[in-house]
Amino acid sequence: MRRQIVAGNWKMHGSRAEATQLVDSIVAGFNGGSGVDCVVCPPFVYLHEVSRQLRGTAVQLGAQDVCAEAQGAFTGEVSAAMLRDVGCQYVLVGHSERRALYGESDAAVARKFAAALARGLTPILCVGELLAERESGRTFEIIGRQLDAVMAVSDVSTLARAVIAYEPVWAIGTGLTASPEQAQDVHAFVRGRIAARDATIAAAVPLLYGGSVKAGNAAELFAKPDVDGGLIGGASLKAEEFLAICAAVPARKS
Ligand code: PEP
Repeated sequence: MRRQIVAGNWKMHGSRAEATQLVDSIVAGFNGGSGVDCVVCPPFVYLHEVSRQLRGTAVQLGAQDVCAEAQGAFTGEVSAAMLRDVGCQYVLVGHSERRALYGESDAAVARKFAAALARGLTPILCVGELLAERESGRTFEIIGRQLDAVMAVSDVSTLARAVIAYEPVWAIGTGLTASPEQAQDVHAFVRGRIAARDATIAAAVPLLYGGSVKAGNAAELFAKPDVDGGLIGGASLKAEEFLAICAAVPARKS
């Protein structure tokens, strides 16, 4: 059975008070017995406080980024050990905003992925194509390149401790969502790419879809056989909407 996961990426939104309130509402409304792993990824500065709030609950904690280096003179950066220290279990790596706005290359993302694993964090590796890349028929080439870069640094076996999120860049924060068929096609491709190296690992790795997922479209996306949940941006800032998305994950797939 693959794990099914819904992770909320809060990005750079909200205040300390809003974070506390949002977490309270999510904790109060999340059905921990549903079989879905619910993860919230607040900004760095709120991680410690949210971690305390989540103690003893079924909701888990993630960060939005991690430094590839273990420690040292890297002003402004946060290490994987620090994230573990404040209670994180997950961390996003290679989000398209990090790749596009902060110039993170495939190689840099691969190093972050390895750094997270080395400290016992579960990396949620984000991959996805630009609209122009999709329109020119290059979707699989781009996703394949992003995946291969990570597997060149970390052995395929490490994917047993990771999660992959397919996030078409054209669907993030735009209101445009990949159709369930488009999402399934890419997820099947990702699983196939991993299976070429290790079929057992490929069958077990959770593959999330992200890109304008809402309560209204989550169920049809999550119904697809290779979609094991979602990475949620904007809709994760509204507890009711986020909880409805968590509830839209169907009973476990094989
Ligand atoms: C994201 O930021 O990872 C994301 C999927 O955003 P949104 O759901 O707002 O499109």
